[in-house]
Amino acid sequence: MSDETPVRTAKVEPLRKTRPCPECAKPSQRDHYPFCSERCRTLDLSRWLSGSYAIPVAEDESRPDEDDWA
Ligand SMILES: [Zn+2]
Repeated sequence: MSDETPVRTAKVEPLRKTRPCPECAKPSQRDHYPFCSERCRTLDLSRWLSGSYAIPVAEDESRPDEDDWA
């Protein structure tokens, strides 16, 4: 008598689950993982590089309250 409880998963995934491309949300390709293509990989890289150089300037919130000034 076997008392093994079958491991039930919600869905049986065929092999590896593919992630959507971070750039265009298309299914990623193994050759360009996690992107869908070389183009999206380059796009993401260039965006990351430009983003690291162009640091968004936060607005200075330390200015005095104008209502308190006569
Ligand atoms: Zn893509």
